[in-house]
Order: sequence, then C-alpha cells, then structure tokens
Amino acid sequence: METLRSFLHDLRRGRRQATLRTMVQSGFALFCFYAGYRFYRFYLWGTGRSEVYVPRPPSVEGFLPISALVGLKRFVLTGDYDMIHPAGLTIFLAALAIGFFLRKGFCGWICPVGFVSNLAEKVGRRFRILWQPPVWLDVPLLSLKYMLLGLFAYLVVWQMDLRQIEAFHNSPYNLAVDAKMLVFFLSPSGLAAGVMIFLTAISFVIRNFWCRYLCPYGALLGLLAMAGPLQIRRDRAACIDCKKCEKTCPASIRITRKETVRTNECVGCTQCTAVCPVKDCLTVTGPDHLKVPTLLLPAAVVGLFLLFYLLALTAGIWYTEVTPQSMKQFYMLLAELPHPGV
Ligand code: SF4
Ligand code: SF4
Ligand code: SF4
Repeated sequence: METLRSFLHDLRRGRRQATLRTMVQSGFALFCFYAGYRFYRFYLWGTGRSEVYVPRPPSVEGFLPISALVGLKRFVLTGDYDMIHPAGLTIFLAALAIGFFLRKGFCGWICPVGFVSNLAEKVGRRFRILWQPPVWLDVPLLSLKYMLLGLFAYLVVWQMDLRQIEAFHNSPYNLAVDAKMLVFFLSPSGLAAGVMIFLTAISFVIRNFWCRYLCPYGALLGLLAMAGPLQIRRDRAACIDCKKCEKTCPASIRITRKETVRTNECVGCTQCTAVCPVKDCLTVTGPDHLKVPTLLLPAAVVGLFLLFYLLALTAGIWYTEVTPQSMKQFYMLLAELPHPGV
C-alpha cells in the first residue's frame, strides 16, 4: 500500500511539473500568436492594404536573430544600443543571460518553437510513429546546428567590420526585415514551402527535430549553459536505477550514465528531478553543490526574462525609434529591397 501511495505521489509530482511547463510554454506561445496577429494587421496597414492602423508589437523582433546578432556586435563595438530593433536585441540578451545562468531555460520554458515541437512530439507518441535515431545517426545530426552556428558566427562576428555592420544596420532591408520575414512565411517560395513541410512532418516522427539538430540559436544557448553554474546532479549511491528520469527527459539525455548533467542539450525543464522517486537523489545544483528547489528554476527563467523587458522599458530601449510612417515607406517597396550583401 505504501509503495502504491509513493508511486502515485511521484507520478503526480512529475505530471505537475510537466503541466506547469506546458502552461508556461502555452502562455508565451499564445502571446506570440497574438503579437503575430497584431503585426499582420500593422503589415496590412504598412503595405496600404488596410486603412486601419494597428501599432506594431515590438516583441515580433524576437524572431529576427540575425539582426539581433548584428545589433549585439554593434553594441559591443560602439556602445550604441540598436534602436531600430531594440526589443529584438533585448530578447536576445535575455536569452543569452538565461542560457548562461539557468541552463537552456529559454528553450525549455519560453520559446514558442520549442513548444510547438513538443506538441508535435506528443502527437507522434499518441500515434506511435515516434522514432529514435540510432547513435550513429544521432551524433552526426547533432553537429549540424553547431555548423550553422559556426557559419553565422563566421559571417557576422568574424567577417563583418564596423563599416559593414553600420551598412547592414541602417539598410532599408534591416528596417523592413520583420515584414520580409512575415512574407517569407505567408508566401513562401516552392523550396521554402517544401523545407517547411518537411520540417513539420518530420517533427511528428523524430522528437524535436528542428531544436535538436538544426537550430543555431539553441546551439548557442547550449554552449553557454555548459559554462554556466547550474547542473543536474545525481546521487549515484541513492539512485535505484528506475530510469524514470530518462523516460521523461525531453532531450533524450542518458541521465543514469552520469553523475552530473551539464550537457548542452539539457533544456532545464526539471521534469527529471520532479519524477525521481528517491528524495534528493536527482537535484538541480549550483556552485558548491547548493541545491536549487525544482520550482525555482522556471520561476527564475520567467523572472529574468521579464526583468530584461522591464529594464528595457524603463530605460526607453524597448520601442523602435523608427516611426510607423517611415516603416510604411519601406514596406511599400518590400519586394524591391535587396539583402545588403547582394
Ligand atoms: S532550440 Fe531554437 S527553436 Fe528550439 S526551443 Fe531553443 S531557441 Fe527555440
Ligand atoms: S536532464 Fe532533466 S532538466 Fe535536463 S532536459 Fe532532461 S529532464 Fe529536463
Ligand atoms: S536518478 Fe532517480 S529517477 Fe533516475 S534512475 Fe535514479 S532513482 Fe530513478
């Protein structure tokens, strides 16, 4: 009876953490969906297809990682904050800070793409079509996102000098890149549509395909997390090898083969610590083996993200300095705006 009670307790605890994560993720995803809708209406006004003006939500800049990377380099070189896409740079800085201090908590709790990927995985599991690639395939595929990250780092961080950074920053392309991105998804080319359909379809079959193998943003956050202070620690002596932690881990990490999980794949979801039936066997730990309560990590992830937003708002670096009328001028010429590198 006692065993059954403790089993149900562990199950409830694990489910509670998973439910909390789904709630937080869906909250951010719904917000992004709403912001995307508002931006679409701004785009219709900006391209002259609607008379109704709807203010552009700054948060859409979070989907412009290249602009944010260029903005970060410009900020480092000149000390000038990117006032064309300030929210984009703020969100990028928040993700980097979370990545370093709180593992890949941005991926685990905030990013809407990760959430959609998790939903696809659940559907795949329900229909029993999920497939785990064997190690000989998994390992080379894992390297792809680092290659993409290396490519972007080479092109932006290494290759672009300040003159090129300023040219990109002030280019009409950068001013209208949010609308360019929207058009890319609304009216994709045949190739882009094919790639999107492939990525969507394969996400039902291979768990987190985009996040695990291809996303350079997640790769960067993973590298930061490896250098950060938090880790998942397993007490080898206390572990009863039930493998519940591994079964629940969304990143397919072989937790029972390690004493500490510092891998760049860990998204800090804390589902493993919540589901572990042995008290203090699997814990989130900081420096000097300091134990971090399971709920503190997600609270800190969301709190740090909101802190960056509030600081940017207070410092006047959340809203763009580009007026809606100026944006409209560039949106009207959208199809003619070349990439600065072309
Ligand atoms: S890996 Fe990329 S897409 Fe996936 S959750 Fe992280 S940042 Fe988002
Ligand atoms: S190791 Fe634990 S915290 Fe990290 S991704 Fe897996 S379940 Fe989540
Ligand atoms: S760490 Fe906990 S959940 Fe994982 S195998 Fe050991 S006892 Fe089971």
